[in-house]
Amino acid sequence: MGTEPLTTSVTLRIDRALFSRLQAHLFPGDSDEHGAVIAVGVAESAAGTRLLARELFLARDGVDYVPGEFGYRALSARFVAETSNYCRVRNLGYLAVHCHGGSNQVAFSGDDLGSHERGYPALLAVTNGGPVGALVFAQNAVAGDIWTVDGRRPLKRLTVIGPHTRDLYPEPGDAPSYISPIYQRHSLLFGSAGQEILSGLKVGIVGLGGGGSLLNEWLSRLGVGHVVAIDRERLDHTNLPRVVGASRRDCAAWLQERRWSWLRRAGQRLARRKVDIARDVATRAKPDIIYERIFGDIADEHVARRLTDTDFIYLATDNIQSRLVFNALVQQYLIPGAQVGVKVLVDSLARRVANITTATRSVLPGVGGGCLVCQEVVPSDSLQEEALDDDERQAQRYVEDPEVHAPSVITLNVLSAAQAANDLMMMFTGLYDDDVKMTQHLNFVGSRQLKEFAPLAHESCIWCGTMDHAKYACGDRARLPCRQKPS
Ligand SMILES: [Zn+2]
Ligand SMILES: [Zn+2]
Repeated sequence: MGTEPLTTSVTLRIDRALFSRLQAHLFPGDSDEHGAVIAVGVAESAAGTRLLARELFLARDGVDYVPGEFGYRALSARFVAETSNYCRVRNLGYLAVHCHGGSNQVAFSGDDLGSHERGYPALLAVTNGGPVGALVFAQNAVAGDIWTVDGRRPLKRLTVIGPHTRDLYPEPGDAPSYISPIYQRHSLLFGSAGQEILSGLKVGIVGLGGGGSLLNEWLSRLGVGHVVAIDRERLDHTNLPRVVGASRRDCAAWLQERRWSWLRRAGQRLARRKVDIARDVATRAKPDIIYERIFGDIADEHVARRLTDTDFIYLATDNIQSRLVFNALVQQYLIPGAQVGVKVLVDSLARRVANITTATRSVLPGVGGGCLVCQEVVPSDSLQEEALDDDERQAQRYVEDPEVHAPSVITLNVLSAAQAANDLMMMFTGLYDDDVKMTQHLNFVGSRQLKEFAPLAHESCIWCGTMDHAKYACGDRARLPCRQKPS
């Protein structure tokens, strides 16, 4: 546990595979009560505490879930002891789960709350501060009573992450608040409820060059309410043809285009930061947008941590370390994301373009969600990254950085970014069903062929897998693969 008191809300995130296993167990159609335990990682931020579902233990009826001394049924003492010990050993929190009848509304019974008060103070001690707590489900609702060393809090909501990413609450929410009439044509597609969901989203964009600047413009026009933009570069005059919103004045082009290198360097120092240009573009599209500009690199932990409370992350830069950190954020913190990129291979002997490929890789948490390490988009050497000392790490870093001097054209960036932008809109407004396959899209531009690839998955992956050593859903309780010292 951190030393910060938990003064803010507690939420829970779960990936759809785990959630459907849980739902099938709780609601097999017999209208009876059933039980389970979820082991959770924890992520703390200024926005509150996120619990992250990592492992599910289904209680067998009549064996692990038995007639209760006080209430109707209860988890057996042995099941509680075994599962809470599992959580203690792995430094995870413990949530006991059961279901009630009903569909859109649910609350704990007096017996439920009484059993929490009898059991959870001791369980908190056993699990080294947990958190511990309970969830009660109806078909489309969930309530939670979460105990931490700093006090007891209700669960604000549960977010199910998948092609249809959605929130469950204890009871139906209020009708959407006022939605600006400028979004009338949006509402015809996904309702004012959809627009309200978009305005409640916090989205990270890593890299505000060609692909990232397009995403930045589109997301702000879409009505996304909060953007965290990360880029460590100032505008170079060679960026002008593809950075949305950039002008010659922004890059001090009159200096950057001089013959004398000292004038060019002065121009580079005077040029505006890409995140500042992106902020201008976003606020023109949506004046009330909350916009965080970070002039930095997600390879640095203090920068990466600014993304741990986002709802979605775009990776639009193309070096190995940022891919590794992005992938870790998705898996460790259960935040869906997408990587966009363009690769142009030039045959330098024949002096011709050999291949142009644009890629849109959606990356959802969990096995088969598109983990970049399983896809081998992150070379396996970088898996040893953490074993390296700082100097070795330094030597290995940025050996491959395809964006440097690679061919780059805005029309190619559009091909990879457009699908990724649309995916966010479809996922959060409920226009995708949960069974939509989030395949990888590769566009072989030269032959005008769009191909889909099913994501690869390795059960033993240390990021997306659920083996003991995997960092999946561990949140703050595992280290991010960032460099030790800020650059
Ligand atoms: Zn109950
Ligand atoms: Zn993986």
